Amino acid sequence: MSVQVGIRTFPLFINGKWEFSSNKETFDVKNPATGDIVARVSKGTKEDVDRAVKAAQLAFKNENWRDMHPKERAKILNAIAHQIVTHAEELAYLESVSSGGTIRRIAQSDILQMADLFQTMAKIVVEYPFSETLPVPPFPGPAHNFVWREPIGVCAAITPWNLPLVIATWKIAPALATGNTLVMKPASYTPISTLRLAELISQVVPPGVINVVTGSGGDVGEALINHPDVDKIAFTGSTEVGRHIMSQAAVTVKNTTLELGGKSPNILLDDADLSIALPGSLFGVFLHAGQLCESGTRLFVPDHLHDQVVEGLVDLTKTLKLGNPLDMTTDIGPVISNSQRDTIMSYIETGKQEGATLVCGGELATVPGCEGGYFIQPTIFTNVKNSMKIAQEEIFGPVLSVIRYSELDEVIEMANDSIYGLAAGVWTRDVNKAYAVVRKLQAGVVWINDWHMLRNDAPFGGYKQSGIGREMGKHSLDSYTQLKHVHTSLVPELHKRTYYQILFSNTDMNQ
Ligand code: NAD
Repeated sequence: MSVQVGIRTFPLFINGKWEFSSNKETFDVKNPATGDIVARVSKGTKEDVDRAVKAAQLAFKNENWRDMHPKERAKILNAIAHQIVTHAEELAYLESVSSGGTIRRIAQSDILQMADLFQTMAKIVVEYPFSETLPVPPFPGPAHNFVWREPIGVCAAITPWNLPLVIATWKIAPALATGNTLVMKPASYTPISTLRLAELISQVVPPGVINVVTGSGGDVGEALINHPDVDKIAFTGSTEVGRHIMSQAAVTVKNTTLELGGKSPNILLDDADLSIALPGSLFGVFLHAGQLCESGTRLFVPDHLHDQVVEGLVDLTKTLKLGNPLDMTTDIGPVISNSQRDTIMSYIETGKQEGATLVCGGELATVPGCEGGYFIQPTIFTNVKNSMKIAQEEIFGPVLSVIRYSELDEVIEMANDSIYGLAAGVWTRDVNKAYAVVRKLQAGVVWINDWHMLRNDAPFGGYKQSGIGREMGKHSLDSYTQLKHVHTSLVPELHKRTYYQILFSNTDMNQ
């Protein structure tokens, strides 16, 4: 990578301008691969949230924005895609040095997905039923009725640190496609790429349509979710914080979508093609050091294949190269922080204490040139019982639990025995067998002979405690619009409005 930004200062982004926080305080953003400070970012306050919400509210009142024709909106969405592609290198750099994601993944996948999402949304929005006419009702009299879909208003978009840019676009694209305005709150570890993206987007939308207030969940996040003028909350993060947000949103009955955690089951059937299933399963769990919500962290293996599968998994895992994420040859980068590293290591300790067998990894790793980074060896446990803590709780790190099974009913029962229901997978050569299993799995996305394959035109979201609502595709536009039924009477004569007599029994309606 050639882009170098040094220690850059990022104020808040409000009403199309950079603005320092009301108390002028900043916090440091560190590179998880080195521990070095890469940016100083304004620490937002409640007053800053107020300013951003006001700017977003004012922008929402602008009818030119709110009621823009979908074809015009499509042009804006395509222009945003163009901005992303034009500034791909800088965005990828900012994303990598703050999130620890490998530049290979970000450049070859994330940036392309982001641009494609806006282009996909541009196509979807011109077809979307913003207005639907209903047939003439048989009762109580002729009328013209239609249903409008209208934007909700000011949306608070609160995002996590694992895929800051991609997840931000999952909220920005449908919100803008439907005429809403946004106040974004990225995670404190990873605000810088979102700030730059907002600045790029602001060059093609009116001021105040997109705002970013950085700071902690306890200050900025709380101020947003409790703000009386925020109309919608779009949250991605842990189930624990999601529960809290849902309870707070109840106070002002805010429209809320939640994309939460996962503990996704990955099932090898006895006829699986292991030459694909083994690398595919590791792709499913170790990509981004296991810090993806839909990671396949519980691998269910039939008894008679167990030893062969484990041997293959361990051999393949040993080929994975930990390294500096900016190095194009690195397979796995660091985890996000020292505290996340400690949490993962304590789960590994718990796994050992629970009686699982550590067959691979389980230790911290040192990467030459990145001695201050937070690296953990990709780790595999066998002899895991589905009831163990390491099989029930989201570790959000490079840890795979291998669980044996003998009967199909048993494995489906175990797969669904989780509070989560985000993703699942099944590996088999028989597509009929696959569909029979897929029907029974409680998950918002199920892959057959693959993993992590999300599409910008397909819905993504969770069953059970993995969330409420869907992102991406036309379904995400449903989450950013509200329905208005409009009735026009086609009965001009009073005496024909017989239904008024339900109230007026003492008045002659025939005059
Ligand atoms: P987190 O829940 O700790 O934080 C997410 C965001 O919420 C951050 O911006 C944080 O500052 C903010 N926040 C924290 N407390 C808040 C509060 N009281 N009020 C308002 N905002 C608050 O999650 P994380 O550690 O950043 O991310 C990891 C989690 O995200 C994992 O559980 C992962 O599964 C989940 N995730 C889910 C998806 C999905 O699409 N389902 C995608 C990525 C990550």
